[in-house]
Amino acid sequence: MCVFCKIIQGEIPSYKVYEDDKVLAILDISQATIGHTLVMPKTHHETIFDLDDETISHLYKVVRKISSSYQEKLNGMVGLNLLNNNKEKAGQTVPHYHVHIIPRYDDDNLKDIEFTNNSKDVDFNELIKTIKING
Ligand code: 5GP
Ligand code: ZN
Repeated sequence: MCVFCKIIQGEIPSYKVYEDDKVLAILDISQATIGHTLVMPKTHHETIFDLDDETISHLYKVVRKISSSYQEKLNGMVGLNLLNNNKEKAGQTVPHYHVHIIPRYDDDNLKDIEFTNNSKDVDFNELIKTIKING
């Protein structure tokens, strides 16, 4: 069983921020900033590629609910990052889908994610032909 399934089963203790029958939100054991939270489905899905519409839409409603609540309750919070890592290459260390809620403060000392501009490697016309989805 994965570490988050053990937390969901109550085999490993956690600080629970929110719980319903489908979703659990806990404080990350390693607080990147004060209030760093992990929101996960109670069912074991490894990545975004494994999740069904119903589970993920409910999960993101909970992410929004917690985010709004933190805006009210966390003193000094001036911004918030949402982060979800899928697969090892992308930094996923626990193979159970989760969204990081990372409250931001003026003096939080957290390094911002920097996006290098690699547009020189991209043929936009070819790329859009390949990936465009009709809504
Ligand atoms: P990932 O790197 O997969 O996106 O994030 C995994 C997160 O889970 C890390 O930030 C790590 O600190 C957190 N984590 C790992 N094990 C535990 C645990 O046993 N309890 C809690 N609360 N968080 C954990
Ligand atoms: Zn799991």
